Amino acid sequence: MSGRDMAKPLLGHQIIEGDASITPAAGRTIGVLGSGDFARSLAIRLVCSGFKVVVGSRNPRRKAGLFPSAAEVTLQAEAVKKTDVIFVAVFREHYSTLCDLADVLVGKILVDVSNNTEINHRKESNAEYLASLFPACTVVKGFNVVSAWTLQSGARDGNKQVLICSNNQEAKRTVAEIAQVMGFTPVDMGCMSSASEIENIPLRLLPAWKIPIFLALGLFICFFTYNLIRQIIHPYIREQKNKLYKIPIEVVNTTLPCVAYVMLSLVYLPGVLAACSQLYYGTKYRRFPDWLDQWLQHRKQIGLLSFFCAALHAVYSFCLPMRRSHRYQLIETAVKQAVEKKMNIWVEEEVWRMEIYISVGIIALGLLSLLAITSLPSIANSLNWREFSFIQSTLGFIALVISTLHTLTYGWSRAFDENQYKFYLPPTYTLTLLVPCTVILAKVIFNLPCIQQRLQRIRRGWEKGRYVKFVLPSATGEYSSGETSSNV
Ligand code: NAP
Repeated sequence: MSGRDMAKPLLGHQIIEGDASITPAAGRTIGVLGSGDFARSLAIRLVCSGFKVVVGSRNPRRKAGLFPSAAEVTLQAEAVKKTDVIFVAVFREHYSTLCDLADVLVGKILVDVSNNTEINHRKESNAEYLASLFPACTVVKGFNVVSAWTLQSGARDGNKQVLICSNNQEAKRTVAEIAQVMGFTPVDMGCMSSASEIENIPLRLLPAWKIPIFLALGLFICFFTYNLIRQIIHPYIREQKNKLYKIPIEVVNTTLPCVAYVMLSLVYLPGVLAACSQLYYGTKYRRFPDWLDQWLQHRKQIGLLSFFCAALHAVYSFCLPMRRSHRYQLIETAVKQAVEKKMNIWVEEEVWRMEIYISVGIIALGLLSLLAITSLPSIANSLNWREFSFIQSTLGFIALVISTLHTLTYGWSRAFDENQYKFYLPPTYTLTLLVPCTVILAKVIFNLPCIQQRLQRIRRGWEKGRYVKFVLPSATGEYSSGETSSNV
């Protein structure tokens, strides 16, 4: 969750607890205006939760068959008369057509469940618009963040939080209680001015993933271009060899591990920068710059994308021998060796390199899978803080070290072979080592006892140069006060 999101929707708001003093909601009659997808799912869920449901439709005879038999389907005005709480499951554009019901709606609670098609589509939220059309009613915004599917799929599936806002506390409490009986967790978002924000929530597309996805795409484009120059353009210009066939699999497969490896190191780099900042300023109470804060908050997504690229790399590598080009090259090599009458082609060093390279690659992927699985909310919630931190921090760092071994065994002595410098460009793996090796080195330095101790003290609240008031008894028995530095 990004910093901006953390400030906005859920954490800062109060989860409404059940209040024993309120009369039980189950058993009361709830009205639903509209007979579309949302109205149907809502009616089913309300009936299953023990409410009596009366649906108001413009055409009750035609729509009655779509609802459970326990729900009464009648004309809009009839439905409104039978209840005090009415869910308006109608699109905003049609609110004005409900104005005929203004007289029978006086004093009732209207729950606005509507969504928009665009973020900040109109100045005035749908709920505020509904309230302006029916000033004699109390409008509560809510339930728009749950879909018709979530309503039907039961309490254990889908999003459980229902965000609620209204200018009337009592009405908000009534709707919150209904939500609770239906198996949802009501979240108090304050007064009606929050309605626009609540209406925007279902329209946001992966807000926490934007930066990590752009980062992964940026890295992919850079490494892909670099590999393209080395693997395709260089042989074409220097030897007039057409190697375009390598683009879909070989070039992509040399790019994916670069992205996965660098992304994994970017999960741990902000922690290193944060520790450097704490050591430099000698305090943990100084705010990190915004970019570092954002980076720290996106580590989970960056890690998951790293795992995604690593998993794709594993699948691509697994499929390498299936390619026609590979088979032709294999036969060509065999024929050449037969012609040259070469019998022993076994190169001990290459055999060992490959065995170690594949083995550490598999271990690294295994550890990354573990990190990815434990970052899922349902798994993370079952771990205590120490277990979570051990897996994400210690095992994650071990995964970075093993990935570095995987990269080094892949490169082996290539960095020292001048034929590998195409257009004077070093092999790609040497570039990828830069950030991860910096992170590993920094972590090793932070683990030196003198630095580790200082860092631990800072993280427990110690501050450099902070002055502490002290009070000393004087020779006469009176007390004199002064100041001293806490780190003296
Ligand atoms: P829908 O299937 O198109 O149903 C809308 C209903 O509005 C119609 O069945 C109709 O029922 C009623 N209506 C009343 N006056 C109308 C008029 N003048 N013209 C047309 N219809 C009129 O839409 P929906 O998917 O149920 O969505 C209803 C509301 O729920 C919308 O505001 C939507 O943003 C919100 N919502 C939907 C979902 C979802 O998953 N579908 C999720 C969250 C929020 P009668 O013909 O019986 O009067």
